[in-house]
Amino acid sequence: MSDIIRMLPESVANQIAAGEVVQRPASAVKELLENTIDAGATEVKLVIKEAGRALIQVIDNGCGMSERDARMCFERHATSKIQTAQDLFSIRTLGFRGEALASIASVSHVELRTKKAGDEIGTQLIIEGSEVMNHSPVNTPEGTSISVKNLFYNVPARRNFLKSNTSELKYILDEFNRVALVHPDIAFKMYNQEKVMFQLPSANLRQRIVALFGQNYNQRLIPVEQFTNMVNISGFVGKPEFAKKTRGEQFFFANGRFIKNPYLHHAVEAAFRELIPKDSFASYFLYLELDPANIDVNIHPTKTEINFTDSKSIYAILQAAVRQTLGKYNLTTVLDFEQEQSMDIPPLKPGQVIRPPQITVNPDYNPFEKKQEFQPSLYFENTGRPSSGNAWRDNFRASVNQAASIPSAPLADLLDKLNEGSDLRLDLGPDDSNHPLFQIANSYIVTETTNGLLFIDQQAAHERILFEEMLEKGESGSSPGSGIMPETLTFSPDNALLLAGLLEDFNTLGFEISEFGNNDFVLHSVPHDLGHTDFHGAVEQVLEAIKNELPGKNAEKKQMIAKTMARTLAIKRGKSLKQEELESIRQKLFSCKIPDLSPYGKPAFFVLSFEDLSKKFKT
Ligand code: ADP
Ligand code: MG
Repeated sequence: MSDIIRMLPESVANQIAAGEVVQRPASAVKELLENTIDAGATEVKLVIKEAGRALIQVIDNGCGMSERDARMCFERHATSKIQTAQDLFSIRTLGFRGEALASIASVSHVELRTKKAGDEIGTQLIIEGSEVMNHSPVNTPEGTSISVKNLFYNVPARRNFLKSNTSELKYILDEFNRVALVHPDIAFKMYNQEKVMFQLPSANLRQRIVALFGQNYNQRLIPVEQFTNMVNISGFVGKPEFAKKTRGEQFFFANGRFIKNPYLHHAVEAAFRELIPKDSFASYFLYLELDPANIDVNIHPTKTEINFTDSKSIYAILQAAVRQTLGKYNLTTVLDFEQEQSMDIPPLKPGQVIRPPQITVNPDYNPFEKKQEFQPSLYFENTGRPSSGNAWRDNFRASVNQAASIPSAPLADLLDKLNEGSDLRLDLGPDDSNHPLFQIANSYIVTETTNGLLFIDQQAAHERILFEEMLEKGESGSSPGSGIMPETLTFSPDNALLLAGLLEDFNTLGFEISEFGNNDFVLHSVPHDLGHTDFHGAVEQVLEAIKNELPGKNAEKKQMIAKTMARTLAIKRGKSLKQEELESIRQKLFSCKIPDLSPYGKPAFFVLSFEDLSKKFKT
């Protein structure tokens, strides 16, 4: 009987290896991006067509390859990163198996152009299914460009197994995010179907997170830092109040590599327990640095699962680090009742002394409970103005009494008048509009009325005005408001998907937005002349609010959109206003159904009575 065992041809061996290394376009993207990092690139471009089926191109300005290396890099087990088995225990690069390019080239059409720094001429290589079709000198910039076309052209089973373009693109974006998050100092640009999807300048980590996930993240992140002999932990966790209903941004990185580790995830979860509702998920971006000898990354070819030699200690250190961060943050929140949502709370520095609180702290106050927020929806569901003394008023009183700087008596008077059903507008007196208006501290509008001095908080008032104007548009079904220069708004793919489902709500509130395809939308008109504002940012805020709170009913959704848009678009405290703007705010505020409060329940005005004023001068 003749011998039957044969060596597999190299191309077949590569294809088999490819089955492990390249499961889908995203795996090729990961390998190619990681190679640019290992090559020391500072600028990286990723170009995708048809979710990577038609083209994946990665261009970098890294070290480039010599002519020989360019040829070698496609051989299996060809790597510049390790030489001996001992090197396996001190790996600092992302790749080291020397399998990625060989695998990719065995299942696609690859074009490589590369040039080393200082070389006159570069090298071009064209490979089809492991076979070199062309090898020639080429004029090309320093660095490397690899194009992978027609992925899996010779492996129909793989090709058929791929999901929709949307899903495959999502996988690619996941890989892109992971690499971009570890290297905020590297500038990345990503094109999808010839359009720029991400343009990330070299930045710090906070800026990078914000550039990837949206402006709102800036106010959500609390820094984590813990340095020990065994492991250094740094990064950010999301503030508990921004925990999401969907498993959102949860990232662990170990020595610059994205990792999945349910055990460590549990440590973070445990630190957040009791701070967030059971069905919510905290975001985190946590970076572990440890001696490579204490990690075994080799247990899985795609290397997202890793083992630590002493996971128990790392678990404990991680949990303590996150606990400590959250503890400090909550302490700051408890002491600061009137804290603005948009304010950034600086972390306490080690050894920093906390000032004793200037206000009485309610011992039953639970910082982990959501703040009882004033619900404007209570009004709109009935006749417009609340009829009898009920919860909202107590709520309002409570919130007012917390604001120590505002005298509470006149407000209580005002509330009692409200209670009697009298109309506030009348209280201002028939001639009141003749009194001049002043702006003080670039934040408050002051004028005289029959009863005393009227103080309007310009921001809270404008929020109220915009909020009611939008809802009114919705109720009257009138056509959208002022036409503006059409503006193109581009969103991340998941936000684009969410927005597409909300267009009708936006449109009934007077924003005319249409879908343009490819994550682009066009804003044609807005319900109110808002001048030049950041509409994109405002819409993003809405999407975040919706993601976090998942409103059930349609009416709630509309309210939430109007509320969030009003808050983002309103004139802010600190902005100097023209006389006619002061006038317009006063006039519009008192035409509102609920002039007293912003849609978030903050007082919009109060009156300091002449009586109280005169008391100040009595001895
Ligand atoms: P590994 O990264 O595991 O070494 P790869 O197959 O990904 O294996 O790459 C093989 C070799 O090709 C690398 O070791 C490196 O020397 C070279 N290489 C790959 N991509 C680049 C690049 N973008 N710039 C410079 N050299 C590269
Ligand atoms: Mg590699």
